[in-house]
Amino acid sequence: MRYDVLIIGGGHAGCEAASAAARYGARTVLVTLDADKIGVMSCNPAIGGLGKGHLVCEIDAMDGLMGRVADAAGIQFRLLNRRKGPAVRGPRTQADRKLYRQAMQSEIEAQPGLDVIEGEVGEILVAGGRVNGVVLANGEEVSCGAIVVTTGTFLGGLIHIGERQFTAGRMNEKASIGLSRWFRSQGVRMGRLKTGPPPRLQRNSIDWSGMEMQSADEDPVAFSFMTTRITNPQIQCGIVRSTVRTHEIIRKNIHRSAMYSGTIKGVGPRYCPSIEDKIVKFSDRDAHQIFLEPEGLDDDTIYPNGLSTSLPEDVQLELVRSIPGLERSEFLQPGYAIEYDHIDPRELNHTLEMHSVEGLFLAGQINGTTGYEEAAAQGLVAGINGARRAAGEDGIVFSRSESYIGVLLDDLVTRGVSEPYRMFTSRAEFRLSLRADNADTRLTPKGIDLGIVSGKRRELFEQKIQAFGRAMQMCRDWNVTPNQARRHGLAVNADGVRRSAYELLSYADVTIERLSAIWPEMLTIRSDIAELIETDARYAVYLDRQEADILLMRREEAMSIPGNFDYERLSGLSTELKQKLIARKPRSIADAQKIEGMTPAALAFLVASIRAEDRAHRRLAS
Ligand code: FAD
Repeated sequence: MRYDVLIIGGGHAGCEAASAAARYGARTVLVTLDADKIGVMSCNPAIGGLGKGHLVCEIDAMDGLMGRVADAAGIQFRLLNRRKGPAVRGPRTQADRKLYRQAMQSEIEAQPGLDVIEGEVGEILVAGGRVNGVVLANGEEVSCGAIVVTTGTFLGGLIHIGERQFTAGRMNEKASIGLSRWFRSQGVRMGRLKTGPPPRLQRNSIDWSGMEMQSADEDPVAFSFMTTRITNPQIQCGIVRSTVRTHEIIRKNIHRSAMYSGTIKGVGPRYCPSIEDKIVKFSDRDAHQIFLEPEGLDDDTIYPNGLSTSLPEDVQLELVRSIPGLERSEFLQPGYAIEYDHIDPRELNHTLEMHSVEGLFLAGQINGTTGYEEAAAQGLVAGINGARRAAGEDGIVFSRSESYIGVLLDDLVTRGVSEPYRMFTSRAEFRLSLRADNADTRLTPKGIDLGIVSGKRRELFEQKIQAFGRAMQMCRDWNVTPNQARRHGLAVNADGVRRSAYELLSYADVTIERLSAIWPEMLTIRSDIAELIETDARYAVYLDRQEADILLMRREEAMSIPGNFDYERLSGLSTELKQKLIARKPRSIADAQKIEGMTPAALAFLVASIRAEDRAHRRLAS
């Protein structure tokens, strides 16, 4: 049988790609090494966080799986940055590892038009510059119109534990060597990256008495638009700290760490450093926080978040036991580092299709990203585009101004990666309008147009949009004089100008509930809609400024940078960026913009510095 789309890999990118392609109407097959491991969380049992939570809500807005699966498996929901503005709040939950995998597998099983084959893809068949199928390790061929490769850390995977090394895709899973060889034979640019989890601890070997504990939010914020209530019991995490003794043990044994002995060549994630990295790079700190996260409601495993390491097992045990509360802890599995091949994402276009082979799409960690959410977001895009390619249709692109997904894709395919890429809100220049709470209004219409959104979601979304429109109309139409507003206790300037309810909502202390003292009908507005309108109103003034800043930046893209420009003296830039600028010597702002890690704020600072230097030169010359 010939499939329209064939997905290689059943991780976070693979599940999302398979579901999206099948929802689009493509006859889809997911080929993975072990069907029982579909939806496995390779490392930390948590979904979401700053920037990452936005991605999950966007995936959900297009009826993707990750949001509702996380809601079904979440055991500690927390809205990060709750006290900061809504644009940078990040929904996050710890997940019960088993519930997550089960919920993901149920979604895959329930999806019409989607088959699963257990097997290893060893080779991709290409005919006339176009994919035509795959060859499995057992020699069987499966033919298809498009392929999405989502093999995570499995390509050429090599695990390091201290001085010990062995090939593997994850602990106790074999690496994918044949496919790695196939990519190399294609002459595509590839690189080597590294990641790694901490040791896993046995729950009852930890002394929890007197430990600082962190609880879930009392009012959990779900990821999915379709989730009405979080039903799982919510758990607490413990918080412990490394000690001076821990740091001494690490320093004394640093030469035995695979990272520091020189055996690992791959670059690790800067934003998720190993404990030995933290001790070396932040040598002035005498304690680092470690979260003890239960891996499930009925699971004895504790994931010590912040303790990833590639030291030998005996040293791992010694350092863990030097931490108060963990003196008698026992390991269920040691920590390790894994090195793997990735493909340079500049080999792809914005639809995640390779430039060199028509119909071949790549998504997830294979593209140099790290994290489940980044992988899933790419999977969604590659799945839709794979289905469209198989149907002979044009690709769909996500723009930076409409979504974090667009930011992710654009960063990857235009700038490439030199270290594992993870999402942050600072990467998005349009972040004031790209909030987690408005992901549905930004993307569900696109999902509806593509036909990948269920009838139920469509119906609920349309009801919401109508209710939003009616409420917004009220807020814009109804207005008061300053005197009327002041009579209701609102501190408005006595300038004689009438203000609409929407304008009044831009004041920090004004809410729809408060305005109902003036207009009692406001109480009929649904609470989720009221919150959305209040946030929109508060951001309206900044949105105009955001728009103006972006227009200005576009005009400045053509600005040239003098060849001898001295980046060293720019104290407002990170050392990392300075080094990249010195090495790359960009000729223009447009060139500088393409440098990996360049944020909109850093670019604005660079523009201002070049201008200032130019003015200084002109003054000297005159
Ligand atoms: P994966 O989830 O790895 O899925 C790959 C899938 O491909 C698997 O189903 C596998 O069976 C299948 N596969 C591979 N080769 C073949 C083949 N030839 N044929 C058929 N199927 C194949 N991220 C963080 O953000 N922080 C961390 O601390 C962190 N630590 C990590 C530690 C480890 C040990 C690992 C392995 C990953 C870690 N990650 C971390 C990364 C995170 O797990 C990944 O980003 C995420 O799982 C990537 O999703 P993916 O879908 O790209 O790949």
